[in-house]
Amino acid sequence: MGLLSVGQPMTWEETKKLSQHVREHGIIQFINLYKRLKDRQGDVLKWGDEIEYILVTFDDKERTAKVCLRAHEILSTLQIKEEADPEGVKSLWRPEYGAYMVEGTPGQPYGGMLAHFNIVEANMRYRREEVEELLKDGEAILSITSFPRLGCENFSHPPVKATPHSGATRSLFFPDGAIFPGHPRFATLSRNIRERRGEKVAINIPIYRDERTPIPIDDSHKKDKAARPDHIYMDAMGFGMGCCCLQLTFQACNINEARTLYDQLTPLAPIMLALTAASPLHRGFVADIDCRWNIIASSVDDRTDEERGLRPLQSNRFVINKSRFDSIDSYLSPEGDKFNDVPLIYDEKVYKKLRDHDIDHLLAQHIAHLFIRDSISLFSEKVHQNDEQDTDHFENIQSTNWQTLRFKPPPPNSTIGWRVEFRPCEIQITDFENAAIVCFVVLVTRVILSFKLNFLIPISKVDENMKKAQKRNAVLAEHFWFRRDVSMQTAATQSSEPQEAAAASAASTDVYTPMTVNEIINGKNGEFPGLIPLINNYLSGMDVDADTHCTIQRYLKFISRRASGEILTTATWIRQFVTGHPNYEQDSRVTDEINYDLLKTIKGIQSGEIPCPELLGYNPVSKTTEDIPPVIAKVAGH
Ligand code: ADP
Ligand code: MG
Ligand code: MG
Repeated sequence: MGLLSVGQPMTWEETKKLSQHVREHGIIQFINLYKRLKDRQGDVLKWGDEIEYILVTFDDKERTAKVCLRAHEILSTLQIKEEADPEGVKSLWRPEYGAYMVEGTPGQPYGGMLAHFNIVEANMRYRREEVEELLKDGEAILSITSFPRLGCENFSHPPVKATPHSGATRSLFFPDGAIFPGHPRFATLSRNIRERRGEKVAINIPIYRDERTPIPIDDSHKKDKAARPDHIYMDAMGFGMGCCCLQLTFQACNINEARTLYDQLTPLAPIMLALTAASPLHRGFVADIDCRWNIIASSVDDRTDEERGLRPLQSNRFVINKSRFDSIDSYLSPEGDKFNDVPLIYDEKVYKKLRDHDIDHLLAQHIAHLFIRDSISLFSEKVHQNDEQDTDHFENIQSTNWQTLRFKPPPPNSTIGWRVEFRPCEIQITDFENAAIVCFVVLVTRVILSFKLNFLIPISKVDENMKKAQKRNAVLAEHFWFRRDVSMQTAATQSSEPQEAAAASAASTDVYTPMTVNEIINGKNGEFPGLIPLINNYLSGMDVDADTHCTIQRYLKFISRRASGEILTTATWIRQFVTGHPNYEQDSRVTDEINYDLLKTIKGIQSGEIPCPELLGYNPVSKTTEDIPPVIAKVAGH
């Protein structure tokens, strides 16, 4: 059986009937795996990145750029090497939602040595070249978060038509033919989310209002009552899950370290989202936001109208305040407990069952909360399982809770330990930028653990930050709630403090203060050290060879400049490219021609043929820090 081996997806009606079955067995499977693995110790830091790419077909005569629907074909070839030698390959390739998407990871995770930072970017380049070798004339592999004209007339090559009255998606814009065809999971998810919800998903994002932007922006509101006339309306899972992102997974030495990392990275998620913002264009329009996050959240929002609080509960059990895709809802470590200030929804019986098996309150409520969701994709051959060994039912629910962080137990019968996945970041144009972000986040985890830092703020404040992070130019314009004193000793050492007093002091505004991304990353005069100075402090106590030092410093310099506004975020750069294009008509539209020029330029930047100091700071191909050109302090206008 190949890596893309296929099972038999069940209908939504069948899946729905089995939802309680999946939940019950999923919980038993978690309890069993927890008992087996809770005391597992001594795993070392391992980590890896995941990068998603979009395949594009350029037509230089017509001056068009379209998504290229050859991912299945290309993946089949890419995976031949892995099937022959799973341990020996330098890269692993997986399908993603779009028929035009591929996801690549390093062949093996990286280890704890700082010198591994020297190979991250080279591995990313290798992956890109590996795909490039399989491309035909005119095709390209781009690491872009959103395809600017996704869902527009003729946006794919070959062309496929949307089918509003039949099929899995029933979108006005997004055809089922643009969903990855090599595995039924993706179309099944799309169909079941729509059927569970009782209607199509509805995504409305604010249009960027330019001088000649017509309102209504198009006639969507005449076709669907869910469409808001002054918003970019999208009605399919593909608009969200068809976006690309950058993810990182870390292995912790034991379950407690994983819980600490999960919590401590949570307040950084919105900061990293703002810093990596890269998706201001959707369905051929310029949006007034810079990130994909809310679009994906709405694109898989399978809550019924009862669950969304629009009608009194009758056939559903809970009113749920978020989509299955969103920022996390509770901390997991003892330090985090008092910052869990948003009431968690869960089934008391599930919670009690976990508690009866000696799972502590924080972990029990986390799992019970994930399990308020139904299975939305079930394969007939997976219904009956051995709960002592299998974890498929647990994973079924776990892997369809798409949140900023994921707490991952060790897989059955493997050498892999407890892990945490960091999921907010948007994808950048060049391997250099992606490598810089990846190495920066890894370094932050080392600093957190070595210096025992504490970034925790109330969950409600993290939620507020997530909203701010997506706004246009948030990296420079917004103030984020951030912890004032990150070295402060926490609940663990104040255990004598009564629960109410602890909660009150957590909620107190003494704990957090508004800061810009620049202040968080680079520091604020005497008040806050800054993440990069903390990293440099950490590095100064380490024996770092010259090569590694140079690699790390060029990455930190880049992050520092993005945060300060010396160089632009990808989103701002894209926005400026479109609004500065000679044929842009101040109407917030990304025409075929603008799309073509933009993606051609992106391709040139990514290969190094087109220098772009306003985005990168200096020539990314060079490895010396000498050739840094004068800084361009251009900040998004309007
Ligand atoms: P997902 O849950 O997103 O499908 P996977 O479990 O397939 O992710 O893991 C993907 C990522 O985890 C890759 O970046 C890979 O390099 C990394 N990875 C693989 N093994 C480990 C490990 N033992 N510890 C940490 N990360 C790992
Ligand atoms: Mg993925
Ligand atoms: Mg992942």
